[in-house]
Amino acid sequence: MVQTAPRGRSAPSHPVHARIDGSIVLIGFGSIGMGTYPLIERHFEYDASRLTVIDPDPDIVNFLRQHRINHRHLAITRDNYREVLGELFGDGGGFCVNLSVDTSSLDLMRFCREIGVLYIDTVVEPWAGFYFETQDNAARTNYALREAVREEKRRNPGGPTAVSCCGANPGMVSWFVKEALLTLARDTGREVEAPATREGWARLMRDLGVQGLHIAERDTQARPRPRPRGTFVNTWSVEGFIAEGFQPAELGWGTFEPWFPENGHRHGHGCKAAIWLERPGAITRVHSWCPTPGPQFGFLVTHNEAISISDYYTIGEGDSPEYRPTCHYAYHPCDEAVLSLHEMFGSGRQQTRHEILGPDDITEGIDELGVLLYGHERNALWYGSRLSNEEARQLAPWQNATGLQVSSAVIAGMVWALENPEAGIVETDEMDHARCLEIQRPYLGPVEAHYTDWTPLRDRWEHFPEDIDESVPWAFRNVLAT
Ligand code: NAD
Repeated sequence: MVQTAPRGRSAPSHPVHARIDGSIVLIGFGSIGMGTYPLIERHFEYDASRLTVIDPDPDIVNFLRQHRINHRHLAITRDNYREVLGELFGDGGGFCVNLSVDTSSLDLMRFCREIGVLYIDTVVEPWAGFYFETQDNAARTNYALREAVREEKRRNPGGPTAVSCCGANPGMVSWFVKEALLTLARDTGREVEAPATREGWARLMRDLGVQGLHIAERDTQARPRPRPRGTFVNTWSVEGFIAEGFQPAELGWGTFEPWFPENGHRHGHGCKAAIWLERPGAITRVHSWCPTPGPQFGFLVTHNEAISISDYYTIGEGDSPEYRPTCHYAYHPCDEAVLSLHEMFGSGRQQTRHEILGPDDITEGIDELGVLLYGHERNALWYGSRLSNEEARQLAPWQNATGLQVSSAVIAGMVWALENPEAGIVETDEMDHARCLEIQRPYLGPVEAHYTDWTPLRDRWEHFPEDIDESVPWAFRNVLAT
């Protein structure tokens, strides 16, 4: 799993964006931590003796030793996080970069803010056990995890910046939504300045006639040999993907939807922007579209951004807002991961062997990750990054295309936090998207806008007529595969 790609291959430019005073602690050195480390080295000025990586995996620790990177060989737990981080950060200042599974984002960000340390993560991660220990599916949703962080923000506004969910998705895709809206406005003959407020962005989305959006991803990264049976293969955390894949499918629920799924549930508390389905996300298929394949099936895996984006672009309050877009993930992972899911759900048990394809394993393919805004006068617009593994290897060491889309978003989020150190708890929808993309852009390969006339009514199998609603082409009823 651990890759030893040579470091420091040339990138177009390596500007030092900011200085980090105090300690830097990286929690977790898996596919994302390993990709983020060389970018931190490249883009920040800091005292290297004060950077520490924490990871419990002995293979990772050997790698860290070989590369002379300061580390602590342990797992952060509910019982030790205050002591371990308290000791590493000492009298305050610095940056905590949480890229680990099984560590509570909420507890860690709360503690960092308490001791005056900046914080960033890429998901709202819970402590170990959360995903599988309860039978209460509503309690296992990302809605519940996100609401806990939003509640902390409401209770303790302002103060040291903690950036929540700043990877590729959740993260970068929220910045893409804003770029896509400005692109659509321009291409439909409107003269529009980038709005300065949340309300302004929500009005722009509504006025453009956007009914909803998919986070539409196709990962075609592949290696020459077939997947070994009994091994779960992916291009990023297998553990993270299995955990989210077993959570209930969730989506931001738009005001244009003419129908409600039979297995759907609303929430009785919080922002109420999302619903969840009584079915695991990784076996819930949706019809979607990406530039490379055109129409495709994606999995409706739950993700924080499906909820945050629907919430951010809501106009009006409570149970019946005036406008809200539908938003969900439509993920086609790499082919080996699709087969891994097939094997796992078919057999009823998780594979014991896990493998993450490293940049040197992959011989072809791209991670095509964007947002597909639909229902407007140009039908649908996909806007996103089409980064190949080959290009990723030229741009930065130790990561594949998927990893670089995530790690470069972490760097952008860190720069933004250093430039806005007293912003409190923020999600990526609430950050300056133009500044963040300016920092991240050199690592994203081709970033493109594609219009399509495809709708979920097209390319269906006429031999088996389905119960769909032809009067509202983009209705979730038509998007959801039966
Ligand atoms: P990974 O499985 O490759 O690595 C996780 C690392 O964390 C491992 O090295 C593991 O040993 C370490 N770890 C496990 N428990 C720990 C603990 N208690 N304390 C410290 N370290 C611990 O995962 P990854 O692909 O690097 O992903 C890391 C996180 O980033 C996951 O939460 C994942 O869901 C998230 N992620 C987000 C995005 C995004 O776009 N937002 C994309 C990919 C991954």
